[in-house]
Amino acid sequence: MPEWYTHVVIALLLADIIRVDKLLVVIGALLPDIMLKAELLWTVIQVPQNMEWALIPFHSPLGAILGGAFVATLFAKNKTQVFGLLVLGIISHISLDQLLNKHFMIGQSLLFFPFSWAYYELGFLWSDEFYITAVASSLLAVLYVVIKFTLRRAKI
Ligand SMILES: [Zn+2]
Repeated sequence: MPEWYTHVVIALLLADIIRVDKLLVVIGALLPDIMLKAELLWTVIQVPQNMEWALIPFHSPLGAILGGAFVATLFAKNKTQVFGLLVLGIISHISLDQLLNKHFMIGQSLLFFPFSWAYYELGFLWSDEFYITAVASSLLAVLYVVIKFTLRRAKI
């Protein structure tokens, strides 16, 4: 997975481009990893051994969207709109994760879960090359801000 910095930057750019609630898109962009990292709770909660696999489907599109549906119910405002923005972030997250190779023996995304447990990735980067996506997303953000303010100034 690209590190959370890249997920957040890309989610903020997406939300700003289409002018929607940035926080909800960012939450959606982090949701697949948050659900996957729920296994950290198992250091304090007793669960049967070898249950790590049970959380992996939450990093798939279907699992993440189901998680997003649950999270949307926690918001008081328009749940359909909240869900849509969470899904936008989830799509952003899953798309960015496709850039990577398998991390150890486990892939990043079960794209076609529950129909297939096969991992599909483009494999351009290794997960320890997080600095490449961090720098690229930072440059993209700077470019976006420069273009946005140049266009805004040109209208004046
Ligand atoms: Zn991820």
